[in-house]
Amino acid sequence: MVFESLSEKLQNALGKLKGKGKLTEKDVDIAMREVKLALLEADVNFKVVKKFINDVKERAVGSEVMESLTPGQQVIKIVNEELTKLMGESESKLEFSSNPPTVILMCGLQGAGKTTTAGKLALLLKKQNKRPLLVACDVYRPAAIKQLEVVGERVSVPVFTMGDKNDPVDIAKAGVEHGKKNGNDIVIIDTAGRLHIDENLMEELQNIKEAVNPREILLVVDSMTGQDAVTVAETFNEKLDITGVVLTKLDGDARGGAALSIRAVTEKPIKFAGMGEKMEQLEPFHPDRMASRILGMGDVLSLIEKAQESFDAKKAQELEKRIRNQQFTFDDFLDQLEQMKNLGPLDEVIGMIPGVNTKKLKDLNVDEKELDRIQAIIQSMTPKEREDPSIIDSSRRKRIANGSGTSVQEVNKLLKQFKETKKMMKKFTDMEKTIKKKGKFG
Ligand code: GDP
Repeated sequence: MVFESLSEKLQNALGKLKGKGKLTEKDVDIAMREVKLALLEADVNFKVVKKFINDVKERAVGSEVMESLTPGQQVIKIVNEELTKLMGESESKLEFSSNPPTVILMCGLQGAGKTTTAGKLALLLKKQNKRPLLVACDVYRPAAIKQLEVVGERVSVPVFTMGDKNDPVDIAKAGVEHGKKNGNDIVIIDTAGRLHIDENLMEELQNIKEAVNPREILLVVDSMTGQDAVTVAETFNEKLDITGVVLTKLDGDARGGAALSIRAVTEKPIKFAGMGEKMEQLEPFHPDRMASRILGMGDVLSLIEKAQESFDAKKAQELEKRIRNQQFTFDDFLDQLEQMKNLGPLDEVIGMIPGVNTKKLKDLNVDEKELDRIQAIIQSMTPKEREDPSIIDSSRRKRIANGSGTSVQEVNKLLKQFKETKKMMKKFTDMEKTIKKKGKFG
């Protein structure tokens, strides 16, 4: 899970303050020492850590906090606000040119995820009714052009190429012209990377920048590389004056050092976060939501947005009606399971729910396989059985267990749970009816 180890340590350090009715300066000191260690272990830039701790302390030992009824909570609130500030306060959106096409220059070291991110960004913009064009300017790596073409195909976005015999600056210019002629309002330029920062690369990027005057220069960095990513960002920013950062591979970053330092060190916003290898897995970066997630306060807004994306409103209405009429069947149940899986990996989803801290999450032992088994059991039922589980006798149970590769006990357990769920649903709808009949205050 994102920032798992940092999150666990911070929650440990701050958890001790939570229950206290009164706080002394020493309590705050001790907690802050732990917070400092946690941040340093997470590979956050030491200057950033120093300033962060000072800022929090200064606010936390004020009389307003110490004398409040819930001083511990107040300190956590301050940490939350300062973490948010560290990552940039609020979401920083892409800027668009008033005179299209908007040119977006992607840069970064090899392997950071530039090409993948170019494709993801094209998809995201396409969903916003834009008409992006991808331009292949990496003429050095043999497979780079092909890779961008494959990515373009995956997201159904056109790719402009001129092979590997031309100068990248000329390709970039021609790409923008091509976009103009073809009504593309966004042109995303994928450039070459190197294993390390080198002068030639920087010069080439500067030349492309001069030639096409991009509205956005997005630096793509691998968040798992921690402070190295911060150094890379500093250098690229010096040479190119970037407009924003895309942090990739955040899905595998348990520490969060790059995410927490880059903004403070470069003063450039993190605009997007890569959350996986799939084309859909690019998210706008929300500092406030990220801070809440780190502190185990959940990220309800992202959860709702994800749910809205993957839930079908009409289906939800139908489902509600079926629940009210007590017609909820195993088919509905199956539907729900599938929609839930669409939200993403279960532990990630659960991590967005407030109050679930990562440590407890491990104890919970959320098992994605369990969902697969339930799905298999339902899929092994006949349509009739799904409609009316009361006909499932012992021989049918055996058949279902065999068909789904599970055991009769598991089938029994699911049938029992389903029965209980239906009973609960009936109780709720009955209760609702009674309340309605009596009137709101009756
Ligand atoms: P480039 O050399 O900078 O163009 O990097 P690529 O786009 O080829 O990406 C390098 C590797 O990182 C590929 O295997 C990608 O699938 C992977 N990758 C890119 N972004 C992400 C991300 O957000 N999460 C994960 N888990 N993998 C990513």
